[in-house]
Amino acid sequence: MLAEFGPKEVINFAQGLGQEVFTGSTGRVFPTRMKASPLLRAWLARLETLGVTLLRRHRWVGPLVAGETHSFETPSGEVQIQAKVLILAMGGASWARLGSDGAWSKHFTQAGVVQSEFVAANVGMQVAWSKHMVPYFGKPLKNIKLSAAGAQSRGEFVISQSGIEGGAVYALGRMLRKNALAKLDFAPQINAADLHKMIASRKPKDSLTNFLRKSVKLDATKRALVFELTQPMPRDINGLVAAIKNAPLPLMGPCPMDQAISTAGGVMWDALTPELMLKSHPGIFCAGEMVDWEAPTGGYLITACLATGRWAGRAAADYLSATARL
Ligand SMILES: Cc1cc2nc3c(=O)[nH]c(=O)nc-3n(C[C@H](O)[C@H](O)[C@H](O)COP(=O)(O)OP(=O)(O)OC[C@H]3O[C@@H](n4cnc5c(N)ncnc54)[C@H](O)[C@@H]3O)c2cc1C
Repeated sequence: MLAEFGPKEVINFAQGLGQEVFTGSTGRVFPTRMKASPLLRAWLARLETLGVTLLRRHRWVGPLVAGETHSFETPSGEVQIQAKVLILAMGGASWARLGSDGAWSKHFTQAGVVQSEFVAANVGMQVAWSKHMVPYFGKPLKNIKLSAAGAQSRGEFVISQSGIEGGAVYALGRMLRKNALAKLDFAPQINAADLHKMIASRKPKDSLTNFLRKSVKLDATKRALVFELTQPMPRDINGLVAAIKNAPLPLMGPCPMDQAISTAGGVMWDALTPELMLKSHPGIFCAGEMVDWEAPTGGYLITACLATGRWAGRAAADYLSATARL
């Protein structure tokens, strides 16, 4: 699906709607105007010219049945809509205030559609900070390396009241969910052997704080975290190298699901045909985050949602033409 509609096609799609994009220093692509609403407005306008009817504030309320009548809750009561095909893209189960509450899942369960449980993805991890970390809440840690279960991510994260959040954390989401301990390298640009030599040649009068600041170039937030994570601070060189390059970061699980940028879990691939149609409910297709896949934030989620939506849409049109010929 991504091979047919990947990053290049997403860029063309945005540009086709009059939205210029630029590539940032991380290689990620952003709309030049740095917001999504102009693209959405242009897209809705295009859909209207194509004869699409948008029925807003219509909530699909199940049951999930292999028929042509589908029930929706609207401000003026429940309505039934006849449709030969139905494509559902009701999202995952985070940020419920935007409507994606995962409530559809119970109708799928009742209809016997196999799903894997929703879990928070792209979410902060909880850490039990000591009171010494309070002044650093909201402060970023740049240029760090985080490791868990043999996987690593380089980048940055922010210290929050409840733990850590940000790109480097989200990128390791799956591993961090399953591991109570991550390891943190505060100075990935210096290898352990060089750091060892630097510590060995440290002047006796130079305090550890000064050494971390001047020689290792750790800012105040990083220094606070070095002392937070390794207590008592070792006096031997190997112990100090470990405190800087391999500090233990105990995790207490992900932050609540509703704070997650996305959720893993949902309709399992086994329940779907390669066309994204429910095997048990011919004519009903699923796309986007409600299907059981996950990706780090940074455009990967949106791209996969667009790719699966397009795939399901085309397959639904083909299905409709094929059934019309019968
Ligand atoms: C704060 C935040 C920041 C993000 N940043 C990024 C980013 O930088 N890059 C990236 O790639 N992704 C990002 N994402 C993730 C991305 O937005 C989602 O993965 C994507 O929007 C999912 O698309 P979707 O169409 O599958 O579901 P959604 O966008 O969740 O849409 C589902 C829609 O279905 C509606 N709905 C739910 N139930 C029903 C029902 N029963 N009947 C009718 N309608 C229903 C919901 O109201 C909603 O409008 C971010 C998400 C959040 C919350």
